[in-house]
Amino acid sequence: MATPALMQNYGNRALTLVRGEGNYVWDDAGRRYLDAISGIAVCGLGHCHPAVTEALQDQAQTLLHVSNLYNIPAQEQLADRLVFLSGMDNVFFSNSGAEANEAAIKLARKLGNERGHAVPRIVVMEGAFHGRTLATLTATGNEKVQQGFAPLPEGFLRVPFNDVEAIEKLAASHDDIVAILVEPVQGEGGIRVPAPDYLNKLRELCDRHDWLLMLDEIQTANGRSGKLFAYQHAGILPDVVTTAKGLGNGVPIGACLARGAAASLFTAGSHGSTFGGNPLACRAGLAVLETLESSWLIERAEQLGTRLLQQLRLQLADCAAVKDIRGLGLLIGIELDRPCAELVELARAQELLINVTAGNVVRLLPPLTLSDEECGLLASTVSELIQQFARQAA
Ligand SMILES: *Cc1c(COP(=O)(O)O)cnc(C)c1O
Repeated sequence: MATPALMQNYGNRALTLVRGEGNYVWDDAGRRYLDAISGIAVCGLGHCHPAVTEALQDQAQTLLHVSNLYNIPAQEQLADRLVFLSGMDNVFFSNSGAEANEAAIKLARKLGNERGHAVPRIVVMEGAFHGRTLATLTATGNEKVQQGFAPLPEGFLRVPFNDVEAIEKLAASHDDIVAILVEPVQGEGGIRVPAPDYLNKLRELCDRHDWLLMLDEIQTANGRSGKLFAYQHAGILPDVVTTAKGLGNGVPIGACLARGAAASLFTAGSHGSTFGGNPLACRAGLAVLETLESSWLIERAEQLGTRLLQQLRLQLADCAAVKDIRGLGLLIGIELDRPCAELVELARAQELLINVTAGNVVRLLPPLTLSDEECGLLASTVSELIQQFARQAA
């Protein structure tokens, strides 16, 4: 039991992890687990990756923090690298995903204010997850996240995910829409993968109406999808894109990247953060990008993802409880026909960490550094667990 000195917002947590190395973590009794959740898509390079650890050690004995009153070389280097790799124009650094999305939402509001809209509207999706601040939980398409926090800010219009026509309809009845905010693959929502041309159609729609296409790549970026950013699969560029989770491999960092007109909406004093872009976090970000660039890990994510999907589909082919097996790169979801939160504990007993999201979707977000052998073990362990679970529940 966790100390009552903590607020109880995380409920009871059954496991205490005290050490990590590569694709494994150890609990306080010395038991080792294969980590197929990576701190929810954070430790994509595996735990305590030496390149990140070295950069942190070096920066920790050089300079931890100075404030954004001053130039920060590591922040500039990370911005240059991100801009080069993403095709975007500039970056605002935050400390978390929700804050990166707040920056995106503020960019859209700024544009709407400049256009004279009393309430500028952002189109958001059912099943979306964008964070826990008041604006981002309002953008989130899950009532549980919003429950009890009224009043919520206005300015969001919701449509089903993967439904371009629904947005076309909104466009016909609203002249105050300024942006679409969408995840290229819905993560918390259950690893929902839209049609392959969805982002292309959204890009076209945004161009036609002069809206910002704002992508939340907090879970999908940093190589996990098989590209550095998932939009690179579609060959488009967004106007705004946010990333966070995998960017620091465990060090808190978020980034909101903008392009074109969106890149000049913030001016001196429009936005800021005490810690955002601090030297320590930016060194971690640089080490992550350098490691991704100098290795085959991004291609590897694509390969491993394809292999995992194939193996899972093969091994679960006769399991009637499995409704769908889907994914992009190392974002993998197995949808069951019933709630399956117990699978997390059953997997833990097999020394495997997995996650269940949206109630009935087993979510796998393993590190990009998974070996072939670990990939096979992951597929067979998860398949067996699901089969046993389905038999018992039947
Ligand atoms: C995790 C996540 C967020 C929120 O990030 P925090 O760092 O928890 O604030 C937002 N959007 C997506 C898609 C996420 O997966």
